[in-house]
Amino acid sequence: MTEPIKRPKRKNPVLRTRLPTLPPGTRARVTLGLTEAAARGIFALQVCRDCGTVQYPPREACHNCLSDRLVWTPQDGRGELISETRIRHALELYFRERTPWRLGVVKLDVGPIVVVQVHGDIPPAPTRVRVQACLDKSDQAALFALPEKDTPHMAEDRQLREMTCDPKFRKVLVTDGKTQIGQAVVRALAEAGADLIWVGYAEPWKKFAGFDELEKIPQVTLVPLDLTDARSVKELSGEIGAKVDILINTAELHRAYGIGARYGTDVAKAEMEINYFGLLRLAQEFGPVMRSRGADGLNSAVAWVNLLSIFALSNYPQQGTFSASKAAAQSLAQCLRAEMRASGVRVINVYPGPVDDEWNQLILPPKLAPSALANAIVKALKDGVEDVYPGDVAQDWLARWRDNPKALERELAG
Ligand SMILES: [Zn+2]
Repeated sequence: MTEPIKRPKRKNPVLRTRLPTLPPGTRARVTLGLTEAAARGIFALQVCRDCGTVQYPPREACHNCLSDRLVWTPQDGRGELISETRIRHALELYFRERTPWRLGVVKLDVGPIVVVQVHGDIPPAPTRVRVQACLDKSDQAALFALPEKDTPHMAEDRQLREMTCDPKFRKVLVTDGKTQIGQAVVRALAEAGADLIWVGYAEPWKKFAGFDELEKIPQVTLVPLDLTDARSVKELSGEIGAKVDILINTAELHRAYGIGARYGTDVAKAEMEINYFGLLRLAQEFGPVMRSRGADGLNSAVAWVNLLSIFALSNYPQQGTFSASKAAAQSLAQCLRAEMRASGVRVINVYPGPVDDEWNQLILPPKLAPSALANAIVKALKDGVEDVYPGDVAQDWLARWRDNPKALERELAG
């Protein structure tokens, strides 16, 4: 049984902060299909269109019939652990600091034999397991065998926790507590066992709807934070930056309409000021200090979450300038992800469809409830994925965008 983790002690400030090390992160291009699926929480393998053979390791041509028509297809990961070992010595600095490390070999029911990391609750081989693809600290897919059925405190396994960003016992900053989404995220974090939740709000001289309810949550501390003001961001970073393990940027400015329905650039500028420049200011102030704390054991910085929008993928003309600001934020978030990677801090981008709030009143249902979006964010942290598309609309648009981006552009314009 996994021993539940204990609340970490306060770090001794005299002790040296351990520098981040990463597992090997270079992969051949063909292998990145595994990573691309794992980034969305899916275990996919190549399946041959001509003979149906499931392939592993990833390759350019089918090992059975040499066809090059290989398609990445989700797998359920069921199989049998046929042998295992514990690594006690390693040349890689990353594993050296973490031995012993449990590894095994699984024969998947669909055919291939795969090398996996092995959860501590799995009994000795041979035994049935579920294999999933997780992202490791290098943000590359690593296969991980889980017990066939869930076990108590399963998520707290030492090896599995290297792959995830579970908010339990961690200190979190939610950048905007004024919105329904921000407040739902704070509630979901408190339920998930976050140790401390700083909740930012601009204009600290006045209360906002929901202020009193937020204050009642024992882990919550309200802090002034205005993403349009570089000094405000800098001040808060100086105060708490070195303690934030997870940053969730929920701040956004959302207005309807495209180009023709509104004259001038004031509203578009205001959207960019929060949705794009706000993220940039946060990244400049909180990014470096979080990068330096990517390997501090249970006190590590682990994740940075950006609230984007499914409209970042393809412009939705009824909310045209908002879509453009989110597309800009998405591009910047990719840069942030690349810069944070060396520290092992995961950048998670969230792409919800229309949320059921005041700015989407003219959009037809289905719309995403703020609480559903908040739960999806906490689940993404627990699963350690990189890209999340919460709700049916986002899933549908993602599928259409992956299939044919030009077709989706036309459909949204209609
Ligand atoms: Zn084949």
